[in-house]
Amino acid sequence: MVRERLYLFDTTLRDGAQTNGVDFTLHDKLAIAAMLDDLGIDYIEGGYPGANPLDTELFAQDRGLKCTFTAFGMTRRPGRSAANDPGLAALLAAQADAICFVAKSWDYHVRVALETTLEDNLASIRDSVTRAVDAGREVLLDCEHFFDGYKANPDYALACARCAYEAGARWVVLCDTNGGTLPHEIETIVATVTAVVPGHHVGIHAHNDTEQAVANSLAAVRAGARHIQGTLNGLGERCGNANLISLIGTLKLKAHYAGRFDIGVTDAKLANLAKVSRALDEILNRAGNRHAPYVGESAFATKAGIHASAILKDPATYEHVRPETVGNRRKLLVSDQAGRSNVLAELERIGIAAERDDPRVVRLLDVVKEREAIGYAYEAADASFDLLARRMLGRVPEYFDVTQFDVNVEQRIGPKGERVSVSMAVVKVTVGDEHLISAAEGNGPVNALDLALRKDLGKYQPYIKGLNLTDYRVRILNAGTEAVTRVLIESEDENGEHWTTIGVSPNIIDASFEALMDSIVYKLVKSGAPA
Ligand SMILES: [Zn+2]
Repeated sequence: MVRERLYLFDTTLRDGAQTNGVDFTLHDKLAIAAMLDDLGIDYIEGGYPGANPLDTELFAQDRGLKCTFTAFGMTRRPGRSAANDPGLAALLAAQADAICFVAKSWDYHVRVALETTLEDNLASIRDSVTRAVDAGREVLLDCEHFFDGYKANPDYALACARCAYEAGARWVVLCDTNGGTLPHEIETIVATVTAVVPGHHVGIHAHNDTEQAVANSLAAVRAGARHIQGTLNGLGERCGNANLISLIGTLKLKAHYAGRFDIGVTDAKLANLAKVSRALDEILNRAGNRHAPYVGESAFATKAGIHASAILKDPATYEHVRPETVGNRRKLLVSDQAGRSNVLAELERIGIAAERDDPRVVRLLDVVKEREAIGYAYEAADASFDLLARRMLGRVPEYFDVTQFDVNVEQRIGPKGERVSVSMAVVKVTVGDEHLISAAEGNGPVNALDLALRKDLGKYQPYIKGLNLTDYRVRILNAGTEAVTRVLIESEDENGEHWTTIGVSPNIIDASFEALMDSIVYKLVKSGAPA
């Protein structure tokens, strides 16, 4: 069977950028565009050239992308000619491969918001599309509020879509702007549109206000639409846009779609999906959604022992797709609920051979349970579990020894009378026969300790040069009779690998020190540093 082509349109840089608290720089926008382009997205919408200086600059850049780079803007304003509209002129001046116009398609909005006649709105669509097509641009027309408009006045909503198509728009995009339409409604309404405008010219732009933007996009495809708009990780104002990451997983891996459609994302690039999703969160400087379908840290995590033992026999027992296909990994949580199967599976993943009835495995499980009872959480700290397991099975070298450390925090009055806080750490380390002393200042005691520890590890220094602390989280727990502090540290290395380590103590500095030490030792083990 010949598969039809489905086109993906990303609007992370335009609609996604309207999210509260999201503020992309030019550098961010270029990095995201390059990442989307490499993934195989067909269209990337960059923003509104002419409407804000950053987007104007973005469109002036030589971006070197394969995709159809798209500028977004309004159709000509009421009462103006297309030749005499500054907004339209700025759009045409931008170095864009395509222009995506937004136009009203709900009669109520035309009258109340635009304050013009229904006929003039159609003329504005016709004039704007024609002018951009004449200027050699591929044209898309976003029909704003299409579904709400259709429910109020189906003839007028359809007239807007047909008018854009007849004027030469490559895609007529039906927008669920308020995000309240349900999948069965989308399917029915899109089917009436594809009876008037051929489906291979119809697109869908769904918002997620009932958490069904992905389902709505798929419903539109079922009704004949062949173009889907969305954003990375579903970024977007209010509840977000359709999540392209989830859509790509489904379109590539579910037979109903994969058997009928091709998208621009190859199987090889699909294996980058988790990486792309996490890279966006990195740029936004926020923790990713652990429970995100396909790509979340927990998307293939299994905690209960009985599930884990079934997964070991055959992963398909509890997994709907194979995690590696989207660049994710199976995670069998080692926790107080864990059975021996989880521990064995984790050992296998980190490359430690052990037999099921090895007494050391039983002992390891006991130690994990004891430590979790006093506040450790190994399911959140994969690298600390890795080290614990290696130590108990006897394979972590004593690379170095911290014989003493000293951390102080000083608050004083600065030259302008302001309060200044300075932290300093001094660390004494023995590496082989070498005795080293390092000192460092930091913006807090843990930062100072981290910097001092990593300043000079003698012959191990080259191995930890690319090591960076990327996240630091502290929680106070009530374990047993006293309050303890749990510190989780996330680290990253020069290869972009991430790992998490843990420390638990009544004292926050001791807990942090333990997690920092684990992170450094883990990096040395991972890099194959000699003992
Ligand atoms: Zn939108």
